[in-house]
Amino acid sequence: MLELYNSASHMKETFKPNHPDIVKMYTCGPTVYHFAHIGNLRSYIMEDILEKYLRYEGYNVKRVMNITDVGHLASDADTGEDKMLKGARREHKSVMEIAKYYTDAFFADCEKLNIKRPDVVEPATNCIEDYIRIITKLIDTGYAYLAGGNVYFDTSKLKSYYVFNDFSAEDLDVGVREGVEEDTNKRNKNDFVLWFTKSKFEDQALKWESPWGTGYPGWHIECSGISMKHLGEDLDIHCGGIDNAFPHHTNEIAQSESYLGHKWCNYWMHVHHLNTPDGKMSKSKGEFLTVSLLEQKGYDPLAYRYFCLQSHYRRNLVFTWENLDNAAAAYQKLISKVASLRDDPSEPLDEEAAKALKEKFEKALDNDLNTSLAVTAIYDVLKYKTNDHTKLSVLAGYDTVLGLDMIGHAAKLRAEEEAKKQAEAEAVDPAVRELMEKRAAAKKAKDWAEADRIRDEAAALGWRIIDTPQGPKAEKL
Ligand code: AMP
Ligand code: ZN
Repeated sequence: MLELYNSASHMKETFKPNHPDIVKMYTCGPTVYHFAHIGNLRSYIMEDILEKYLRYEGYNVKRVMNITDVGHLASDADTGEDKMLKGARREHKSVMEIAKYYTDAFFADCEKLNIKRPDVVEPATNCIEDYIRIITKLIDTGYAYLAGGNVYFDTSKLKSYYVFNDFSAEDLDVGVREGVEEDTNKRNKNDFVLWFTKSKFEDQALKWESPWGTGYPGWHIECSGISMKHLGEDLDIHCGGIDNAFPHHTNEIAQSESYLGHKWCNYWMHVHHLNTPDGKMSKSKGEFLTVSLLEQKGYDPLAYRYFCLQSHYRRNLVFTWENLDNAAAAYQKLISKVASLRDDPSEPLDEEAAKALKEKFEKALDNDLNTSLAVTAIYDVLKYKTNDHTKLSVLAGYDTVLGLDMIGHAAKLRAEEEAKKQAEAEAVDPAVRELMEKRAAAKKAKDWAEADRIRDEAAALGWRIIDTPQGPKAEKL
């Protein structure tokens, strides 16, 4: 039974879906104004683990993700310019062009990191009528008001607003950054915009007709609208990075539950941040850490996935090149160990061993997705006293969740080693190759004197014959 920490109840809870036949999962997708940094991707890796573990457990999961291509302002406090517009200006392209470019780049990164594409991916600009329907009802029922041309959600109408308030003040502050001017249209400090027709930035590229004038949706309403469009009026799990807990998810709950008149989502999973040693990871400050940069520096993207799995998703993780080097070396070593296993399907599957090993793995993940213990369970498999066929079969099962491509990478490594051996053998002088064959025959016949004589003959031709555990090799003297 999966025990998952629920940020809304502030404790670990046994996961139980609302419906027996489906788990409804929603994930806040990327704002596609730039490449995702590896911090963003930490969140998506850990959410991928949750989805895959639910599937491993036999649940039928429907996962929906939005693509934020409008309405995410540079400040979450409803001021500042739209991030998409800033991105478009930076690159001298249209908003739609950069949205497409960075959406494709995001999914290319996900593929390299073995992050499964959600069942439904929905750009925010596709669902304008859904937002208008929700906002209309919120105004009709007194939860929203018009002021200065914008529609605001009235947080004073709620019995409780701060559902995630066990976060540190620092985490909660993220959305309300310093230097943000107060919006004087708001009746209450935390009221937020559902629909903009007026902002300081009149050059918003994408606008739509609405009952309140031509304008565009706020960022928060997008996730409520997209979730309800594809998953209906209830949700099992909502995921996102910890910075989204406030105000984004807090506002999603406020507007969704006011609109529906009942509880909306049961479990909230928040992934904590990947930080640099000097603080928050950023797309604008310092080195912009992307999957492409890791590749340029020679890292396998899956070594980064391995790095993420080594720590718990509810702890901040510090990124340094040294930490990544350690993870990359450990991942490489793991792949060589898996490559040394020989699959022989004629060997019987050791049912007892497989059961014991699976239990260990499941125990780790059942405990609020303890991926670092799940990784340790891999090494238990490698050490276990059982046949290689059983080990490989158990590892393949683990990898449907961990996504480290252990078997595929091991096969690739073996093929590379084989090719290297072949190339080395082919580089040897044909006369020396012939001598090596003769020497092997002499050794087989236990004619040691003849074997030594042949070695000297090869030396006279300028080649040293060496015996290795993998067989004889020849090297130029
Ligand atoms: P964005 O593209 O800014 O909308 O963010 C995409 C996702 O990445 C959201 O779920 C954020 O909460 C998450 N995120 C942002 N920064 C980090 C970070 N440094 N570490 C982990 N997740 C992050
Ligand atoms: Zn969202």
